[in-house]
Amino acid sequence: MSRRAEPQVADLVARARGGEPRAVARLISLVEDASPWLRDVMAALAPHTGHAQVVGITGSPGVGKSTTTNALVRELRAAGKRVGVLAVDPSSPFSGGALLGDRVRMADHALDPDVFIRSMASRGHLGGLAWTTPQALRVLDAAGFDVVVIETVGVGQSEVEIAALADTTLVLLAPGMGDGIQAAKAGILEIGDVYVVNKADRDGASAVSRDLRGMLALADRREGAWQPPIVKTVAQDGTGLDEVAEAIGRHHAWLAETGELRRRRARRAREEIEAIALEELRRRWGSVGSVERLDALADAVADGRRDPYAAADELLDG
Ligand code: GDP
Repeated sequence: MSRRAEPQVADLVARARGGEPRAVARLISLVEDASPWLRDVMAALAPHTGHAQVVGITGSPGVGKSTTTNALVRELRAAGKRVGVLAVDPSSPFSGGALLGDRVRMADHALDPDVFIRSMASRGHLGGLAWTTPQALRVLDAAGFDVVVIETVGVGQSEVEIAALADTTLVLLAPGMGDGIQAAKAGILEIGDVYVVNKADRDGASAVSRDLRGMLALADRREGAWQPPIVKTVAQDGTGLDEVAEAIGRHHAWLAETGELRRRRARRAREEIEAIALEELRRRWGSVGSVERLDALADAVADGRRDPYAAADELLDG
């Protein structure tokens, strides 16, 4: 099979690198389908990666993430950057760019070949978010997008996962959402590189900003550590987005100067390797013969003839 796949992979990769959106979309579909050709794809992409600046956007539903992403894309386009957007919904089984929010966003940038927007679902999908998103990111990186924005549609653990993927993480808050408490609960105070208080046209934005500043001041930061700025925005009309883009640029420069960029990316690669290796192990255990072996070991552990550690060792040795 791989002999037949090879020319197609090479062709797809060449076309994606040439900026052809359909080729980029096809490569991301291969990721979502966990295609056996992914090995070839990733090998072909690897030499072209490492250039994209990765920006994560997270926050509670309704806070304005889609609207902000849209406005940020406009801002980055005005600066001449090519922008890829991955909208990740860990709670949805749907994929393939069919979400309503996408259509709305697409409408603004539909005719722009230098903007690529794609939503990805990962529920019940192999290693989930940790497996698919970094590989989709690789595709966009190799395809020459200067900035890749990863936006989480869902809630919960995904926030932290996005932060692990991004060079710069934007945490969005808005008045009237009980975000003060939420921020502390979700550990959001640790993951933000830039805090955005959106819906600044509404009452209470200054209070949110003040509370947040108070909480950030209490956080324990080392000498020379990055001080996350707080930017107020009205994403709907683009107010403050220039400041957001500027803060992202400043953070990126700081990452590069301090060597933190390299460290973050190595950490990202490590999680990626781990996710792929774990998935490969699961695949092997699911293959013919292994299932019976695992069943036999499970019986032995259930009957007290083996302990679970010894059984796990046996499974790994096989
Ligand atoms: P998400 O769920 O975090 O992606 O939030 P959305 O971007 O879908 O926005 C949720 C709602 O808030 C939508 O009705 C937006 O039109 C509205 N919204 C977004 N930004 C602003 C803003 O700056 N001010 C106001 N008043 N509404 C906003």
